[in-house]
Formats: sequence, C-alpha cells, structure tokens
Amino acid sequence: MIGSQVRVRFAPSPTGYLHIGGARTALYNWLYARKTGGVFILRIEDTDVTRSTKESYEAILDALNWLGLDWDEGPEKGGQYGPYLQSARQVLYHTEAQKLLESGDAYRCFCTQKELEEMREEAAEKGEPTRYDGRCRNLPTDEAQRRLAMNVPHVVRIRIPEGETHFRDIIRGQVRFQNTELDDFVLIKSDGRPTYNFAVVVDDARMAITHVIRGDDHLSNMPKQVILYKALGYSLPKFAHLPMILGSDRSRLSKRHGASSVQEFRRMGYMSDSLVNYLALLGWSLDGVTEFFTRKSLIEKFSLKRVSKNPAAFDIGKLDFINGEHFKRLDSMEKVSIVFEKLEEEKLIPPDFRVKEWGSADAARSPDAKKENREAYFKEERPRLAFILKVMGHRLKNLKDVRSKLCYFYKDDYRKVEEAYKEHLANPEIGPHLLQMADMIEHLEPFERSKIEGAVRNLADDLEVSAGTLIHASRVALTGDSVSPDIFSVMHLLGRAKCIERLRQAASHVISKKS
Ligand code: GLU
Repeated sequence: MIGSQVRVRFAPSPTGYLHIGGARTALYNWLYARKTGGVFILRIEDTDVTRSTKESYEAILDALNWLGLDWDEGPEKGGQYGPYLQSARQVLYHTEAQKLLESGDAYRCFCTQKELEEMREEAAEKGEPTRYDGRCRNLPTDEAQRRLAMNVPHVVRIRIPEGETHFRDIIRGQVRFQNTELDDFVLIKSDGRPTYNFAVVVDDARMAITHVIRGDDHLSNMPKQVILYKALGYSLPKFAHLPMILGSDRSRLSKRHGASSVQEFRRMGYMSDSLVNYLALLGWSLDGVTEFFTRKSLIEKFSLKRVSKNPAAFDIGKLDFINGEHFKRLDSMEKVSIVFEKLEEEKLIPPDFRVKEWGSADAARSPDAKKENREAYFKEERPRLAFILKVMGHRLKNLKDVRSKLCYFYKDDYRKVEEAYKEHLANPEIGPHLLQMADMIEHLEPFERSKIEGAVRNLADDLEVSAGTLIHASRVALTGDSVSPDIFSVMHLLGRAKCIERLRQAASHVISKKS
C-alpha cells in the first residue's frame, strides 16, 4: 500500500453493456477516489471466456468515458499494478494457488463431474444442502502427486476452516457468517482458470486496494473472500456494499424494466451530467432534500457514511426532472455544442439542405478530413444554432426533444400535424395568400426578423385579412405544426429559399385540394 492513499477499483465483467447498477458502483468508487485524492482503478474481470466479449469491453470503456469517470490505472492507461485484465494475470493466480497448496490451506480435488452430480443428488434426497463433501480433502500427498503426474483433470479447492468469519462493512456494520455454511469452494477450475472469488481477492490484494466498494449482490461472497485473505496472509481492505437498485415493481432493476444500460439512457438523450447526478442519488443523499449536483459538488459532498443500506428505487420521473435542471443550467455555448452533437447523432446534421462543404469527397476519404469538415461545419452552423436555441427558449427542455423540436430547421421530413393543417390551411383562400407571401419574400431585403414581420403585416393589410391568419398558416406551412417559437424568427433562421419553397408547397397543397 502506498502510504495511506486511497486505492479503489471498479471491476466489471465484460459480458454486456454497462448496467445502471454497475455505473453507480463505478461512480461511487470514482467519487470516493476524487474526494480523498486517491486512485481509481479499472480492472476488467474477463476470466469467464465464454461470456466475455470485446464488444462489451469496448462498450464499458466507452460508457465510462461518456460518464466522465476517468480512471488513473487500468486498460489504455497502464499503471504499476498491471496488467489490468484478469486474463493476462493467470500466472499470478497459479502462483498464489501454489502457496495455498503448500501451506495446506488448499488441496487438489480429482472428483469427476459424475461424482459431483451423484453427491448433489444424494444430498438433495436427504434434504441436505448440496455441498462438496470434502472427499479429496485428505487424499494422501503421494496419491495426489501420482494423479497429477498422470494429468488427471482436477480443480484446486480451499480448505474451509472451522469457526466463524466476520468483517465490518462501512455501510452495514458488523457482519458474521458461520463457516459451516460454506463448502470447500473451487479456486482454480479444471481448465486452469481462477474462479471469481479467488481472482478478486488476489487482485484486490496485489493491486493494493484499500476500499472495496461494490453492489451488495457480492455480500454473500464475503465469507469466502475473507477466508481467502486470511489464508493468503493479506490484510483486509475496507468494504462497502452498496444497496441494490429496484425497478418500479420493487424487484431488482433489470432489462425487464426497460432501459437499464448507460448506453440506452445516452441514446434516449439523457446528458452525462444528469445521469451522474441521478446515479449518485441512488443510495446516497446529502441531506435527503438536495437533488441537484454537479460533478464538482458531488466530489465535495460525497461520503460513504451517508450511503443507505436500504434499497434504492429507480425513478425515471426524477431522472427526467434532474435532466431538465441540468439542461436549463447549461450556458449557451455548452448548449450549442451538446445540441449539435445530438443533431449529428439524430442524423439531422448534415442537413439535407444548407449543405455546403460538408460531406465533400475529401471528407468521405479520410477520418481527419471528415473531422476537419465537421469542425468547419460546426463553426459555420454555431451562430445559427445559437439563435435557434435562443428562439426556442424553454420550449426545448432536454436533449430528448431535439429531434421533435428542431427537425424542421434541418430536414424536410419533419412531423406534419394533421389537425394543424386542417385548422389553418383548409380555407381555399389561403393558398393564393401563401403564394403572395412567397413572392413578397423573394424580394425582401434584408431578409431578417423585423423586416419580415413588417412585410407580413403589410401584406395582411393589403389582402384585408388579419395578420394572425397569415401567421398561423405560414407557421403550419413552415414547421408542420400550429405551435412554434416566434414565426418571424423561424423564417429568418430557415432562410429565404426554404421559406419560399415550403410556402409554395403548402399553397399548392391547398389549391390542389380545392380543385
Ligand atoms: N466482476 C464482478 C462483477 O462484475 C465485480 C466484483 C467485485 O466488484 O468484486 O460483478
């Protein structure tokens, strides 16, 4: 251990996306490290070769990066306690297992699959717990050596001592287990791979972890791990087992409850700051009241002492609320960047109109050129997007609504609300009016908000209709709906050509309906 510096770790198994529960564990570890000036380690527990995948590994790293939970040691970072992938640490597990074999704390078990099954069946028939009965425990050493020399398949098992095992959990206090509850569990499987309980203890000890912070689904593994720490002669780190997260039906949160991975929430348009804020509240609270936290304030306020032992309920309404609060507080430059990214993700950018250099042959050729092009487009679009967001004001409450609220600024296949067309574009008179409006716009200089408003109001006077008639009709023609931000600003932002095109299209629609 390096002095008294806190060393915590997040140890996901790469067998799927990063689940909300896993993300919460990662976050609490990260917060604790950042608060205490400690080290946050990422270790990939990929000993289960059949279930571990490269895609999952990448997805987990990607999700952690997106959440902003940067690790100090681990994959892609390195560190003096590596390697940080369990699959690359096999030799270490064997060395440690060998020590236990030599001290007599572990033994080789040559029982076959068939024998183990019979053992289980017999125990089940007698109504006894289905545990390993320890028949290889006292196999004479020379017999074990003989079988070993003959390459008889075998596993390495721990010899569970008699008595009681206890430890103190930061969240749950003193926890006790009777060793009679345990059987001589496997440390090294017959394929030479370590089991979870063995690898995790060896790694936590060898990586000098000072605090193990993880979900309480691992509480039941604690007696095994404590026994292993002792047998291996390692001192125990501190433990904090986090309360489970429940879904709306009060059962453990899972895929059944809908979105359960960080990636899914990201795709749905939640911001990383909001998710971090919300995850922090799943089991921890500052004062039971405060709900809005930035990363910085979380680092300042977080403490393991205020983590509850009661299960936390996942509440999407609260996440939505928090997400809205974060969005509201973004400064305008941040909002522009984040909305631009969302527009790209939603494929609204590059737009099917307003295409300039974007998407040129060069951009398709090299990633660098593509990036440059994106930067150039962003620079060019930034003032317009900032204006769009200003005009939108509080109408845009979060990123989830970016597509529905901004689509018509970027694409022609925006949502067209039928009732709005019926209400404002049904009168046959309106067709010619819209055409006249388009003609008027064609020559309007400069094409900007106040000028447009003046011209539309004058046109209404000339046509002897209310300004509202033209405003409502043009709103539907330009945005597809009867509600939008200030329509003159919308016109300004859409640009002359797009306004003319949409007004004429809507007019022809009205006229063709009439005939
Ligand atoms: N690899 C384990 C899991 O994904 C982590 C165990 C631990 O944190 O000790 O559940």
